[in-house]
Amino acid sequence: MDNETFRRHAHEMVDWMADYLAGVERYPVRAQVAPGEIKAKLPAEPPAAGEAMETIFADFEHDVLPGMTHWQHPSFFAYFPANASPPSVLAEMLTATLAAQCMLWQTSPAASEMEDRVLDWLRQMLGLPEGFAGVIQDSATSATLVALLTARERATGWQANQVGLPALGRDGDDFTIYCSDESHSSIEKGVKVAGLGRENLRKVETDADFAMRPEALVSAIEADRRAGRTPICVVASLGGTGTGAIDPLRAIGEICRREDIWLHVDAAWAGSALILPEERGMLDGIELADSFVFNPHKWLFTNFDCSAYFVRDPEALERTLALVPEYLKSPEGRAVTDYQNWCVPLGRRFRALKLWFVIRSYGVEGLQDMIRAHIDWARELFDQVSDAPDFEILSPLRLSLFSFRYRPDGEDDEAALEALNTRLLAALNDSGRVYLTQNRVRGRYAIRFVVGQTSTERRHVQAAWRLIQETARGLA
Ligand code: PLP
Repeated sequence: MDNETFRRHAHEMVDWMADYLAGVERYPVRAQVAPGEIKAKLPAEPPAAGEAMETIFADFEHDVLPGMTHWQHPSFFAYFPANASPPSVLAEMLTATLAAQCMLWQTSPAASEMEDRVLDWLRQMLGLPEGFAGVIQDSATSATLVALLTARERATGWQANQVGLPALGRDGDDFTIYCSDESHSSIEKGVKVAGLGRENLRKVETDADFAMRPEALVSAIEADRRAGRTPICVVASLGGTGTGAIDPLRAIGEICRREDIWLHVDAAWAGSALILPEERGMLDGIELADSFVFNPHKWLFTNFDCSAYFVRDPEALERTLALVPEYLKSPEGRAVTDYQNWCVPLGRRFRALKLWFVIRSYGVEGLQDMIRAHIDWARELFDQVSDAPDFEILSPLRLSLFSFRYRPDGEDDEAALEALNTRLLAALNDSGRVYLTQNRVRGRYAIRFVVGQTSTERRHVQAAWRLIQETARGLA
């Protein structure tokens, strides 16, 4: 493709992008296709000859777009948001065009130095203590894996990745890890991938607020020590995925310091709300943590992928991950940061650019206003659902998340309620007008509602509530 053709198509596509964002409400929120439907439209053989961009683009619109779930739809209330924003998209266009590998300082000094700078902006914005150093990971799952690897290395005197666990006389179930029974599955995945063994992850009991019970953590640690095991890491959640649970950081941190255990904090979703001074109570005790992750790609208007991982001791991270063959040596030595030593992959995109665009374009106050509005609209809805006699709250409002179920006529047959709410959720999502997801709260089937999309307004939340009531009452 010559440059003038590229220019023409790029202009056309930017027009399409702006129209898409302006009219995204036209589309069903969740894709309304059957398994295999999209693949059947894609030729089984690759084209031998090049095709015109007009043809490719027409196929994108006709064949591909119907198979997309529209995450930027203002009536997307499912999972957690993965919000984007116009400034972030613009930065992504530049990142794609520069197409730089930002693994070493030398391979793109601006990327490395901007990452250092904007991660420190984020640290200040969230109220994290001075001294925490940040790095962008692709996802919170990767950040948590890296935390677990660092905890493992620290516990073995930096020997496990040198000689392997078996050579250290470890039989595979020596190390134990702790999180609550409300924690995200990425912790269990990290434990698996780090070779620590899923069975060695203790899911500590939670209290009535779904938060980890510190006494239960102490008991679990003591039981493991008595059995000759070595506790190496606790993962505390700020904003668990199911119910938005917030673990008591200070109490957990004090246990970790006393027991010499790595404390990692998973604030993947809720971390963005820490830019609001009034939400910082949950950070009490953060000075006791060793590492902390949150995802600007969830609720800080920054395109996926952009996960901010902060560590107290970057040297521990480097000792865990660094590997520098001749071809990756930096003549600048310690004067620069080579972020390839701070994450698992070598290659890295210029992801700091979108954060820089977003933070500068909205300003901290603009970002605060958007998140505060989401929380206000969720609170209003939460109050409405609480007041509706035929609905029941199953988990309380945490920031902009809560869960509920439809419960007409005081129905108390759990199986019947599950069947009814499963039908309700399917009907809502099949309507294409909203998208919500389910959870299980203390064994009960629940529908989650989370407000957080960039283009969501109060009217979308209110329209969703009207739709939920009409649909539910139509089913009963
Ligand atoms: N931690 C929590 C609390 C989450 O809710 C999620 C995803 O929703 C993750 C971790 C994993 O995030 P990522 O998709 O960035 O790996």
